[in-house]
Amino acid sequence: MSDFLTEIPTTGNASLPAPGESPGDAASDADLSTPASDALASVIARTWGIHQLRPLQLEAMNANLADRDVVLVLPTGGGKSLCYQAPALVRDGLTIVVSPLISLMKDQVDGLVQNGVAAGMLTSVQSSSELRHVYEELEARRLKLLFVAPERLMMPGFLDKLVANGLAAVAVDEAHCISHWGHNFRPEYRQLGELKAKNPSLPVHAFTATATATVRDDIALQLGLIDPAVLVGPCDRPNLTYRVQSRHDVTRQVLDVAKRHEGQAGIVYCISRKEVERLAKDLADAGVKSLPYHAGLSPDLRRSTQERFLNEDVDVVCATVAFGMGIDRTDVRFVVHAALPKGVEQYGQETGRAGRDGLPSECVLFYSGTDYYSWKGLLERGHAEADNNFGETAGEDALEASIARLGRMVSFATRPICRHRQLVEYFGQEYDAAADGCGACDVCLGEIRVEPESQVIAQKILSCVVRCEQRYGAHHVASVLRGAATAGIRQARHESLSTYGILKDATVSQVRGWIDQLVGLDHLRVQGDRYPTLYLSPTGVEVMRGELDIELLAVAAGKKRKKRTGPVFEEGETPDEALFESLRELRREIARERAVPPYVIFNDRTLASLASRKPNTEAELLDIRGIGEKKAADLGEVFLAHIAEHVRAAAD
Ligand code: ADP
Ligand code: ZN
Repeated sequence: MSDFLTEIPTTGNASLPAPGESPGDAASDADLSTPASDALASVIARTWGIHQLRPLQLEAMNANLADRDVVLVLPTGGGKSLCYQAPALVRDGLTIVVSPLISLMKDQVDGLVQNGVAAGMLTSVQSSSELRHVYEELEARRLKLLFVAPERLMMPGFLDKLVANGLAAVAVDEAHCISHWGHNFRPEYRQLGELKAKNPSLPVHAFTATATATVRDDIALQLGLIDPAVLVGPCDRPNLTYRVQSRHDVTRQVLDVAKRHEGQAGIVYCISRKEVERLAKDLADAGVKSLPYHAGLSPDLRRSTQERFLNEDVDVVCATVAFGMGIDRTDVRFVVHAALPKGVEQYGQETGRAGRDGLPSECVLFYSGTDYYSWKGLLERGHAEADNNFGETAGEDALEASIARLGRMVSFATRPICRHRQLVEYFGQEYDAAADGCGACDVCLGEIRVEPESQVIAQKILSCVVRCEQRYGAHHVASVLRGAATAGIRQARHESLSTYGILKDATVSQVRGWIDQLVGLDHLRVQGDRYPTLYLSPTGVEVMRGELDIELLAVAAGKKRKKRTGPVFEEGETPDEALFESLRELRREIARERAVPPYVIFNDRTLASLASRKPNTEAELLDIRGIGEKKAADLGEVFLAHIAEHVRAAAD
C-alpha cells in the first residue's frame, strides 16, 4: 500500500531568512530558492515573528504550495498548524481547516486574529449574527482561513458554495480521527473521503501526531489522496524528561511533583473517576489549584473546568483519559500518570500534552505491579460487554492485542533502558542518542541504578511468597519480610517463618517497589480481585532457585531534585524571575479583557525572552521570537512600558 506514497526523508532545521536578508543567504539544507519560499519567509516573520523553521515545516509548506496532497506527521508541539496557516496566507483564495473539536478551532482562530490574520469559524456555538458575519466575509472573499467541523463541510451544497467562493485548499487537522486504527476514530471524518472524490484537483493536506505506519497509510487511503508527499518527522520530544517510579503513597508522590512546579500547569491522569476526585481534593487541600475532570461530570462543569485551566485560573487538572484532546494550552509543564496507561501509544499521546511550546517539561509515571492486573480485568470485562453488543467487532483477537499492548507498556516501565529510546523505537524510528544518553530520562540521568544484591533480594521475596503458601497479598508479604508486628502476622503466626525479618533493613517503599518489579517482570503473578494474592510464575520459580538471573532497580539515594523550576528560557538567556512573573500577570489581565486564553497573547518562551532581554524599542521587540508586526503594534507599547517601569523600580 505504501508504494504509491512518496517518502521524503527528514532533514534538519531549515532556516528562514531574517527580515531584510535574501533567502539565498540563509544557511539551510532545504530548498529556499523558489519564489514561494521568499513570500513564505516574509509572511512567517511578519505574522508570527518566527525566523527559523523546524524539521519538515518547509518541505510540508512547499509541497502544499505546489498544490500537492500532503500527509504530515509531527509530534505534538512540532508546529503543524504553521504548515497550513502560513501557505494559506501566501496562496490566493480560501483555505478550509477541518478540526474535530470546537475548542481547538476557537483557540486557533483567536490566535490567528491576534496575529492580524483574516480567520473565522462556523460552529454550533456561535450566535446567528456571528455566523452571518462569517458568511458575509466568506462571500466577500475576505477570509483566508475558515475552520469547520467535518459534518458541516460535507453538508449538501456547502462544499460547492465554498468552491464558488474561491476554495483553494483543505487542511485536515487531527487526521488520525479518520482511521479505525487510530486511538480516536470519529465516524464523521469518514465522509471527508468525498472531498477528493468530487474535486480531484483540490489539494488536501492531512496533519497528525500519530506516528504509526498503519494509521498514516490509512489516512491517505481514506482521504483518497493522490500521490501525496508523506512527511514523517522525528517523533522524539527532547524537551520532555521522563521518569518512572514505583507507587507507594500516590498522593504524596503526586504532590511532590506538583510542588516542584508550583504555579505551573499540569495534568494528572488516573484510571478511575474515584481516584480523580480523591487526588484533586487532596491536591487542593494541600494548596494546589486543582480540579477533577471525568466523563461522569456534567458537560457544563467539564466545559468550565477546561476553560478555567486554559485561562490559568486553575493550575492542575486531575483527569481520566477523557481530558486531553481539546487541550491546546502550550505551557503544560508536567504530566503525571498516577497509574500505568494501557499502552505506549496512549502514553506517548498523553505525555505529549506537556511542553508543546518546546520548553523543558516533566512526565512522571507512578507504577505498581498490580496496574497490569487492574487493566487486564477492565479489558476483559469491557470486551465481554462489547461482545454482547457488537459480536463481530471485538472478540478474542482484539482482546489479545489489547493485552499485548499493555505488556509493552509494562516493559517500558520496568526495563532500565533510556525512555526516549524506548518510545522512539516503539514508533518504529531509530534513536541516536549522545554517548552519555539522552540527558532527559531517569535512566540516563542516573536516577535509577541496578540493585547490587538483586538476585538475593529477589530470592528472599519469592521464597517468602512460597512460605506464605502463595495465599497473601503484597502488603502482608512485605510486612513479613520487614519483620513487622501486624495483627495479620500474629494471626497467621508468620513470625515463625524463616523469611520473617530477612529484609528488615529495607524501607516499606523499597520492598513494595521490588515486589512491583517482580510482578512487572512476570516472576510473580496476582490473582483475585477483592483480595489479590501473590503466586510464583514458572520463571519466578527459576529465579528463586537461582537458575535465572534478575536485575532489580533501585532509586538512587541522594539525588534530590531541585524544588522548583524557574522561568524557562532560550539558550543564552537568563530571565529576570520577578519580571517574568509580573509579565505573566500582565498577560493574564490582557487576556481577560479580550476574553482569550493567555497563551494566545504571548507564550511563556516569548515572555521569558522579554524578561531576559528587556527590550527598549519596537525594533528590539520585533527581534524576539513570537512577536510579529501585528503584535508589536498592538501590544508593544504596554509591554515596553511595563518592562521600563520594572527596570526603573529595580534601579531605585
Ligand atoms: P502541533 O499542532 O504540531 O501540536 P503547534 O502548531 O500548536 O503544534 O505549534 C506549537 C507551538 O510551536 C506554537 O506555539 C507555535 O507557534 C510554535 N511554532 C511552530 N513553528 C515554530 C517555529 N518554526 N519556530 C518557533 N516556534 C514555532
Ligand atoms: Zn534516556
